Amino acid sequence: MASTAATATHVGLDVERIRADFPALHQEVHGRPLVYLDNAATTQKPRRVIDTVTHFYEHDCANVHRGVHLLSQRATVAYERARTTIKDHLGAADSREIVFTRGTTEAVNLVASSFVRPRIGPGDEILITGMEHHSNIVPWQLLCEATGAHLKVVPINDEGELELDRYAELLSDRTKIVGVVHVSNALGTVNPVKTMIELAHARSIPVLVDGAQAVPHAAVDVRELDCDFYAFSGHKTYGPTGIGALYGKREHLLEMVPYQGGGDMILSVTFDETIYAEPPHRFEAGTPNIEGAIGLAAALDYLSSLGLDAVAAHEAELLETATEAVLAIPGVRLIGAAEHRAGALSFVMDGIHPHDIGTILDSEGVAIRAGHHCAQPVMQRFGISATVRASFGIYNTMDEIERLVEGLHKVREVFG
Ligand code: PLP
Repeated sequence: MASTAATATHVGLDVERIRADFPALHQEVHGRPLVYLDNAATTQKPRRVIDTVTHFYEHDCANVHRGVHLLSQRATVAYERARTTIKDHLGAADSREIVFTRGTTEAVNLVASSFVRPRIGPGDEILITGMEHHSNIVPWQLLCEATGAHLKVVPINDEGELELDRYAELLSDRTKIVGVVHVSNALGTVNPVKTMIELAHARSIPVLVDGAQAVPHAAVDVRELDCDFYAFSGHKTYGPTGIGALYGKREHLLEMVPYQGGGDMILSVTFDETIYAEPPHRFEAGTPNIEGAIGLAAALDYLSSLGLDAVAAHEAELLETATEAVLAIPGVRLIGAAEHRAGALSFVMDGIHPHDIGTILDSEGVAIRAGHHCAQPVMQRFGISATVRASFGIYNTMDEIERLVEGLHKVREVFG
């Protein structure tokens, strides 16, 4: 198997240098050097992000948009500059199209409450796919319960790919929105979102893309995709927890009612009438996660500085190598064998529960995820309750894949 250094040369990422930027990677777990392969759940943070957040607390800590004093002005400038960084990273036209949220989950809830709810009624439909994370299922179920609308689901095939013909058939005059995950966290499948958006737009149906597992792995261009909404989470992209963003086309955001009421989202308030602020501030009631937004911008700057094509190539090579190596272990079955995959490798081992596999791997210092990955319908589709998921990031190496494979052989030994 290729060494880390060879990999770095081959794909253009200096992985050793990248690893040096991540303090948390340099620790032992149960007496073994940590191998962190749970990046789809959350990523580790580079020194640049940690320093940016610390700098905010040490120098610029103040509330935004309301102070006349210098610290508040500095905090406001940094917060709004972070919005511009996110706009640039996603290829949006205008930073007013970027709403800060707690993450992908809140972004989907915002679209459900503020965009879809006023437009939907009994008998209308919401179309999602069979490989959504719960955060792109439950908000729509809540909306259906409240309005009498119906949830429709695009099926997935045995490879873990969407059945596109069925998708086209399920789009109807009653469909009020399509919600689709860009990259599945449970299967690693990369969905053909551009084609899906074109098909939906041909019937004037807006599309929300869940980009939680896409933004960390490749360049995303919302204008090229022409999506109506795009959501992602900072903590899966080497940024802080509790922060993420929703991109929304300006014409949609301008039409949308507020999501929550409170300070910072208004122009004026009397007991008779409140006039709301313009988007995006209309959707950011209360004191925002200022340091989170600034830290997220630092994370995206860091990721961009590596070159997103090099990031995608490095991770594609890791995924391919890991897939081959894991499949060579007796009794392993891949869950999700789509032609286009990114980031995550999901599998089961005959007769061994994923949680047992996860526990033994942990004792070997290898952190993976075992469970349903907040995608229980995917598990139901494949007739299982859980999978083992190894998910990769910019700092993972071929040597770490060897450690994963050694750990899985140990699992085989233990269970006979
Ligand atoms: N969508 C996908 C595909 C995810 O993988 C996740 C998290 O695992 C989410 C949405 C929810 O993200 P968050 O918990 O950061 O809101």
